[in-house]
Amino acid sequence: MPVQDPVVIAGCGPAGAVLALHLAHQGTPVLMLEREPALPIDLRASTFHPPTLEMLNDLGVAAPMIAKGLIVDRYQYRDRRTGEVAEFDMSVIADETLFPFRLQLEQYELTQLIARVLQGHADAELRYSHEVTGFRQDSQAVTVRVESPSGTEEIRASYLIGADGASSRVRKAAGIEFAGFTYREKFLVASTEFPLEEVFDNLSYVNYIADPEEWCVVLRTDKAWRVLWPTDPDCPDPSAYLSDAHLQERLRRLHDRNGDYDIRHRCIYDVHQRVAETYCKGRVALVGDACHINNPLGGMGMNGGIHDAVNLGAKLTDILRGRADPQQALALYDRQRRGLAVRFIQQHTIANKALMESTDPNVQRNRQRTLMEKAADPVKAKSFIMERAMINSVRESCAVA
Ligand SMILES: Cc1cc2nc3c(=O)[nH]c(=O)nc-3n(C[C@H](O)[C@H](O)[C@H](O)COP(=O)(O)OP(=O)(O)OC[C@H]3O[C@@H](n4cnc5c(N)ncnc54)[C@H](O)[C@@H]3O)c2cc1C
Repeated sequence: MPVQDPVVIAGCGPAGAVLALHLAHQGTPVLMLEREPALPIDLRASTFHPPTLEMLNDLGVAAPMIAKGLIVDRYQYRDRRTGEVAEFDMSVIADETLFPFRLQLEQYELTQLIARVLQGHADAELRYSHEVTGFRQDSQAVTVRVESPSGTEEIRASYLIGADGASSRVRKAAGIEFAGFTYREKFLVASTEFPLEEVFDNLSYVNYIADPEEWCVVLRTDKAWRVLWPTDPDCPDPSAYLSDAHLQERLRRLHDRNGDYDIRHRCIYDVHQRVAETYCKGRVALVGDACHINNPLGGMGMNGGIHDAVNLGAKLTDILRGRADPQQALALYDRQRRGLAVRFIQQHTIANKALMESTDPNVQRNRQRTLMEKAADPVKAKSFIMERAMINSVRESCAVA
């Protein structure tokens, strides 16, 4: 590693990996510390929105991602009772972005790709089985405490970035509150290779399906179909939702096939809406789930974390080259990204969930009618997609001074 103290990043999820790549590209020394012995292969985010693809393109990794993933240029809001479909065609934003589509690809494909690109890079190093457990800082540096198989060590860093997910040790050690709430119900997810596209007419690869009894999201990744449902918050034993019998019954309600579905992955998880009270404290900053979490409807969590990483990467490079005042630059990062998380991501994801889950037939009818009107009108459809594709949010955040 070069002589300058590196930027230390706790966590090599999508946000930490993109920040590391951004810094290394600028010749800023970076040390990534990942708690796990290898990069986690968990099936979580699978949607990359257009501005995220533009940022990954600037970092040279969009093309291999696109080659691996599924290009989804239309998505649907379906009403299961009436069979009505509102389809949004993303070609209406072709004059606004190089990538007028959503890319469906597992998030671990991105972290693995970046780890490969950074291997052997002069300015970057990734250490596995290294868990950040605390830090102390002064005006010159941060001393990061790390646990690894060889014991406890202290590493000197120019800045410490908490990219260590929703339960961030860095955020907790910095004493930063994570205000918000947790929904009472959990979300249930199952993946299957059964070809749902063959049994539903004109099924898109991303579908939000309303139903007064049971709404769901049905989307395709590069590897399988994934279905997400809400669960009953009063269920005394939520783990029962993961049984074969329950999942087979739930999938059969979607499509009553002969025989069992192959279920290649299942999980149930708590859903939160929280934003950290600040994104920076001295020489410590947060990105991704460490500073904002939301329900997955709309696929904005990982995308927002990548947008944080690119914004912060540029500011850290300017600070370390003496081109920006550290306090002012980090305060601007906080205003641009935290303000946006509160105004945009939290509002949209809470509204997306409320819209899906209403059991009132009038609300459902109006919802479907409004969506179908929007989808049929190119001007309204464009405005709807610009918002959902996070293009407006990135532009708005960059405009904050
Ligand atoms: C089922 C599901 C579906 C989702 N779908 C979408 C979607 O389609 N689109 C979307 O945008 N978002 C989606 N999300 C959210 C998305 O997965 C997260 O927002 C994203 O993973 C956050 O990335 P991150 O890098 O901030 O944190 P993480 O992905 O959580 O990565 C944190 C990393 O830090 C490591 N770590 C933790 N603690 C330490 C420590 N103390 N020291 C060192 N390393 C540490 C972890 O091992 C991990 O590698 C979904 C989430 C779920 C649960």
